[in-house]
Amino acid sequence: MKITRLTVYQVDLPLEHPYWLSAGRLKFECLDATLIKVDTDAGITGWGEGTPWGHTYVPAHGPGIRAGIETMAPFVLGRDPRKLLDVERAMDLALPGHLYAKSPIDMACWDIAGQAAGLPIADLMGGCSRTPRPIASSVGAKTIEETRAIMERYRARGYVAHSVKIGGDVARDIARIRDVEARKRDGEILLYDVNRGWSRAQALQVMQACPQVTFEQPCETLDDIAAIARKHAAPVSVDESLVTLQDAARIARDGLAEVFGIKLNRVGGLTKAARIRDIALAHGIDMFVMATGGTVLADTEALHLAATIPDDACRAVWACQDMITVDIADGRGPRNEGGHLHLPEAPGLGVHPDEAALGQLRAIYEMAE
Ligand code: MG
Repeated sequence: MKITRLTVYQVDLPLEHPYWLSAGRLKFECLDATLIKVDTDAGITGWGEGTPWGHTYVPAHGPGIRAGIETMAPFVLGRDPRKLLDVERAMDLALPGHLYAKSPIDMACWDIAGQAAGLPIADLMGGCSRTPRPIASSVGAKTIEETRAIMERYRARGYVAHSVKIGGDVARDIARIRDVEARKRDGEILLYDVNRGWSRAQALQVMQACPQVTFEQPCETLDDIAAIARKHAAPVSVDESLVTLQDAARIARDGLAEVFGIKLNRVGGLTKAARIRDIALAHGIDMFVMATGGTVLADTEALHLAATIPDDACRAVWACQDMITVDIADGRGPRNEGGHLHLPEAPGLGVHPDEAALGQLRAIYEMAE
């Protein structure tokens, strides 16, 4: 089987509500999504998506994905998409780094490989759990009142896991955490996501005031987190600083975090993320899984990886579909059911978009005759 054509679309994904990352540092209103259709000479078509959370959150750029695909296309065309490691090495040779540009191609190849094998991606990756995964909400807010309102909106949709964005003013952070904890319901999974918003001193202040809660990415770098994480009694999660396999190895070996937040677009796709998963499992580290952002396709990619994690090590998946106002798959694919996502049983990814809903056709790359 050979890859014969790459078709690239760009889609704007407006957010239903304006979203503030960690205490109002950054406002987001629309995501720039890249969808890629990968055709083969066997008549099987795969789909991939790359949707960074804007371009001010981490080093990832919507237009950069499309430029990266243009650069990598000659190295990918003609390859067998079922040989995921061949495709991965071709992309890494063509364009070192730029992992976020690679994840859509990797995702589409997994989709094709699953369809060719007659298996959902998660089963092709080695077998998996059918336990529905709780969806973590994303509570981007500035005040106590806004936080309460957003969390109640998600609870009304059945959500039992919440990622509350904090990080900025220490007194306000402590007040918001205490308010959320006071209203916590039985069985809820809560994570306080700092998004790198604290200095080391600020982190220590909040950790001392709130010793029982889990913080995610409290400071900018792994060195910062190494300096403060052992002073916190409860687990620490790392996501923005978890990019490469070397990062995962260092965090695990040095005991910098007890939870990984694996972002598929950030780490370069399922192929690379599966290795990070295995490092986590080998070291007793729990996981949250998310694509980073995007449509139901991206959510489904994250769900497949989450399904390959033993139930007791997978805390939740984060899904973006309830935050955006467009649906490129007309209700198909895994959707929120009582705050959970159920793995699709169809071969491959299990959901494809409506091409008519995909906005702008940006490029077509074809194998030379
Ligand atoms: Mg995070």
